[in-house]
Amino acid sequence: MPLPQQTDVKNVELVLDTVLNTQQPPVGRCRLLSSGFGHSHTFKDVPELSGFKGCIGCGNCIDVCPVLAREPQRRTRTEQRTSFALEALVAEDCDRCGNCVIACPQVDTTIKHYVVNAHLVEGMAHLLEKATSDEQLYYDLLLAAA
Ligand code: SF4
Ligand code: SF4
Repeated sequence: MPLPQQTDVKNVELVLDTVLNTQQPPVGRCRLLSSGFGHSHTFKDVPELSGFKGCIGCGNCIDVCPVLAREPQRRTRTEQRTSFALEALVAEDCDRCGNCVIACPQVDTTIKHYVVNAHLVEGMAHLLEKATSDEQLYYDLLLAAA
């Protein structure tokens, strides 16, 4: 869990907007803008890890990425489950959906709320734009069957 004192989005809004509007996986940069892990949520094998912002390799960002869900063969390029791997596997094909930011345990809730409130609708519109006609047809059939 992030530290109780989290990043005030007003202080990083400009850089955050730039990160979210860039067609690259945003989770690593959003992690670095965050306050970091709280001490009570870290292993005790290192004396002081409070504020630790590193990737813990949980793979959440990889699991929720729509690019990798649509094209699972990309995942065969590496077994790593880190933000570095996500950047290598997705790169500029990023849909800018924001899912990876929301799923990351190292990103502050303040930043997640900003993504949900300010960028999610735009991100979803971008995702729809990229959908192929076949995917749209599949989606329509799914809705019709519901
Ligand atoms: S497509 Fe979405 S989940 Fe995948 S890297 Fe881009 S913003 Fe993150
Ligand atoms: S979701 Fe997990 S693997 Fe991805 S950047 Fe955050 S800590 Fe790293």
